[in-house]
Amino acid sequence: MTGRTHDLIAFTAMSAVVATQPLGSMTLATAFVAFTANMLGALAPDIDQSTGALWKKVRFGAILGKLLYPIFGGHRHISHSILGLVFFGVVSKLFLILISNVLIVDIEVVWWAFMIGVASHLISDTFTHSGVPWLFPIPVKLGIPPIKALRFHTGSFVEKGIVFPGLILANMWIFYAYHKDIIEFLRTNIK
Ligand SMILES: [Zn+2]
Repeated sequence: MTGRTHDLIAFTAMSAVVATQPLGSMTLATAFVAFTANMLGALAPDIDQSTGALWKKVRFGAILGKLLYPIFGGHRHISHSILGLVFFGVVSKLFLILISNVLIVDIEVVWWAFMIGVASHLISDTFTHSGVPWLFPIPVKLGIPPIKALRFHTGSFVEKGIVFPGLILANMWIFYAYHKDIIEFLRTNIK
């Protein structure tokens, strides 16, 4: 799945959470950093791919990606599994604690936003042709639907012509159906 689809899926998941879940109040800085963390989380599992969208965003990213590639065992290995989810959870939490003196934001909110991004990545890759090795190191790639031929390829017409526009429609529906809750959240919870 392409980086922009992953970002849009993570954004959709966040919109759904903001629309339906009772969130506490937070500063504008927290909301902004959480939004960024959500986007980064959505791209994080593809850290194992030197051509991944995350690497395109940083200078010398392609080289860095190539160096890290063997550590992650190649594309769609440990970073695309339950173990990987725990790994991202622990590392990002430690990182946030480390920078909490410099970056004054609600770490808990930012961490959840990041993890929603990571989880949405793994779930959405499960619907693609290659599937996801959820149970790594058990070398079985799982997919929905289980029949591989029914799943779509990255960058295919199904992804660009159906999934991507479908997600935009889903967002429009969320903002239409829950506009009162979302406006209420922005008005009263963002300080
Ligand atoms: Zn992926």
